[in-house]
Amino acid sequence: MNQLDFQEEITQFADVILPVPVPRLFTYRIPREYAGQIQPGARVIVQFGKTKVLTALVARIHPNPPKQYQAKYILEVLDDTPLVTRWQLELFNWISEYYLCHIGEVMNVALPSGLKISSQSKVQFNPDFEHPDLLTAREAEIVEEIKKRQSLTYDELARFADIKNVYHLIKSLIGKRAVIVFEEVKEKYTPKIVRKLRLTSFYADAGNLTELIRQLEKTPRQQEVLLEYLRHVPALRSPELNAHGISKSVFSKNEELSDSSLETLIKKGIFETFDIVVSRFAEDTGVIASPPALSEAQQLALAGIVQAFEEKDTVLFHGVTGSGKTEVYIHLIEQVLASGSQVLYLVPEIALTTQIVVRLKKIFGEKVGIYHSKFSDNERVEVWKGVLSGRFQFVIGVRSSVFLPFDNLGLIIVDEEHEPSYKQYDPAPRYHARDTALVIARMQGARVLLGSATPSIESYFHATQERYGLVTLSERFGSASLPAIELLDIRQARRNRGMRGEFSLALLQELGATLEKKEQAILFQNRRGYSPYITCEDCGWIAKCDSCDVSLTYHQREAELRCHYCGHKEPVPRTCPACGSTKVKTIGFGTEKLEEDLQLHFPAARIQRMDLDTTRSKTAFQQMIQDFEKGETDMLVGTQMVSKGLDFDRVSLVAIFDADRMIHFPDFRASERAFQLLTQVAGRAGRRKDRAGRVVIQTNNTQDPLLAKVIHNDYDGFFAEELEERRQFFYPPFTRIIRLTTRHIEQQVAQAAASRLAALLTAQLGTDRVKGPETPLVERIRNQFLFDVLLKFERNLNLRAIKEKIREVVEEVVTTKDFKGVSIVADVDPV
Ligand code: ADP
Ligand code: ZN
Ligand code: ZN
Repeated sequence: MNQLDFQEEITQFADVILPVPVPRLFTYRIPREYAGQIQPGARVIVQFGKTKVLTALVARIHPNPPKQYQAKYILEVLDDTPLVTRWQLELFNWISEYYLCHIGEVMNVALPSGLKISSQSKVQFNPDFEHPDLLTAREAEIVEEIKKRQSLTYDELARFADIKNVYHLIKSLIGKRAVIVFEEVKEKYTPKIVRKLRLTSFYADAGNLTELIRQLEKTPRQQEVLLEYLRHVPALRSPELNAHGISKSVFSKNEELSDSSLETLIKKGIFETFDIVVSRFAEDTGVIASPPALSEAQQLALAGIVQAFEEKDTVLFHGVTGSGKTEVYIHLIEQVLASGSQVLYLVPEIALTTQIVVRLKKIFGEKVGIYHSKFSDNERVEVWKGVLSGRFQFVIGVRSSVFLPFDNLGLIIVDEEHEPSYKQYDPAPRYHARDTALVIARMQGARVLLGSATPSIESYFHATQERYGLVTLSERFGSASLPAIELLDIRQARRNRGMRGEFSLALLQELGATLEKKEQAILFQNRRGYSPYITCEDCGWIAKCDSCDVSLTYHQREAELRCHYCGHKEPVPRTCPACGSTKVKTIGFGTEKLEEDLQLHFPAARIQRMDLDTTRSKTAFQQMIQDFEKGETDMLVGTQMVSKGLDFDRVSLVAIFDADRMIHFPDFRASERAFQLLTQVAGRAGRRKDRAGRVVIQTNNTQDPLLAKVIHNDYDGFFAEELEERRQFFYPPFTRIIRLTTRHIEQQVAQAAASRLAALLTAQLGTDRVKGPETPLVERIRNQFLFDVLLKFERNLNLRAIKEKIREVVEEVVTTKDFKGVSIVADVDPV
């Protein structure tokens, strides 16, 4: 075979994932100069359609040209080695099949945007332009300009044409084939660079250096600069230290050492400056501590987990709040890292786990990468690359860290596995990080440890069915006991004039006593803002969002009404917009009002509020935790944020408001959520043995059976009862649910589409499995009307083929002429 034949032989094609919601992979031709060099998992640049250029991910390479279309060439290759591992490609596939979405949507969410091209869209003259006669005079003028300047960004074009919305114009020009749109390829990641100073190689030699110091006696300032440098870098003793250099700022701190002397030394060729790329993550200067010795109960738990892993790939670790699950994890992580495998430690929301990160960094130092939502793009890219290069063997991260390029995982820990925030809702993929972790583990042969004081019904069910191992730790660490929980009857208090606003007198007394003892309190109300409603006392008008079917929440500090669904804001009306009355008042209360009232009752107390509104900045949360830890805050008022994993020494009182609302929320998971949330918040109290904890729950119904189980920390009783309900009403874990939601700006259209969807699905799947259409709790969001069709399947049914059918039916409905503009959201295993 001669050279040419060989070249022909390897003419190859790449199937690529495009970061757009299209249902399949697209095939491109690999240019000869890249033959044999492109690997699956590398990023490439391709043209998509007539007008777009995109970053795509190579999924496969093969010799078969596509049958239906002529393959275009790949334009550029961005990676020599895969950026995405083989099993990640497999995972993307699994997610798109299981969660009913497109693989491009998975890619889009998986890759930090720093690894995708910048969205700098540009307009270019189309060399194949054929019909100038179609252009208006104005368009012709604009096209002339584009031709002259070769390419223009959207902004430049807007400026030239002097219009605000260029999209119309561009669309028209594309339609007439006068221009094409492409995106400029620019990786957004920029490394962090630091300029440093060192001796040039000649003077780094000890002999030459000694000579130099003597020579500089005539210029004492220059000599002093050199000596100062040598104080930081003892190059005489070990010349190789010079390679690291020092930062120039060392000199600017010392005013005596003038800049000009230093500049002279650089000019003389004695010093040189150089740039190095440094990590964005502060190198750990903290002492590396060895992990704490485990208590006897913890040792037993650890041994139990290790043993359970002999038989089961997944183990559920049910340990009460404050039992020291983290310490057990630490020992397990050490074992796995020592064996050379990687570890992923998932936490529900890292801001809430500041404390855990600090604890783990002390033990694992620089091996730990952290990945969370408040990270910048650059930081995320560094973690991604750190995992690829092996720098990070161990990552602590939120939901999206399941997408990092691990290839040798030995263990995945899912801490607080019951947390609903592990499920992503928008945008697709609507994946559950815990369930995804189980799939990753199966692919890589890793073990999964699910940890919680209040396991999800699903996970506990699997454990009782012996699909998972189960290890229980039922005592708190260090002979601390679980807090005593007391129910306060606010209906009765109201009758007896025993309420001051939202506080019962009994609670106020306890809060006062806590302050007096210099202990701390946490107050929990799962609702932010000042009040969830404002209303007119005369006519009953209620402030509602224009675009959503919900009431507006009053935020006092900003003097605004806000929609918690679409973000809409408006000023608070002084008078009722319906009848003009001035009797506009608030109903109900959120954390903001609680904070205000609390301050009125305890003017001297130092109070902080922790909710979405007060923790938007990157550091706010950390600061609050620190203040509370140091005892600079007396009382913390907050939403569910205060329930998660926080570990403070001095909290002796936890107060819970509005518990009834949580319990009676109209959702089949309401009891489960309420039990978990109440138990978790209560678990913040009394975590040290010398300070017993108390919990006060204000309720209208002291006889509520769920509250009784919370009081007695009766997880088993709660589980048994809840499971029975689920069995009776055919809910998970006995079934799997898929929820399809139609959306359209017109109610009738959304409803008709949902009816059609339900009818088609019923024909395919049978009446028992299809419910609806029904209106969801919130019927309209962002001006779109919503209708749900609920599908329920027996647990053991294989849904693969069924999901394919669902896809087809959805496709059929959205492409029906009458349903133009309808979108359908599929949510698999909704939470
Ligand atoms: P959980 O996550 O189970 O609620 P934590 O892991 O936060 O509990 O542990 C509760 C507290 O007890 C923490 O302050 C932790 O440092 C401490 N602790 C737990 N186990 C030990 C141990 N073996 N040695 C020292 N301190 C421990
Ligand atoms: Zn009115
Ligand atoms: Zn709204």
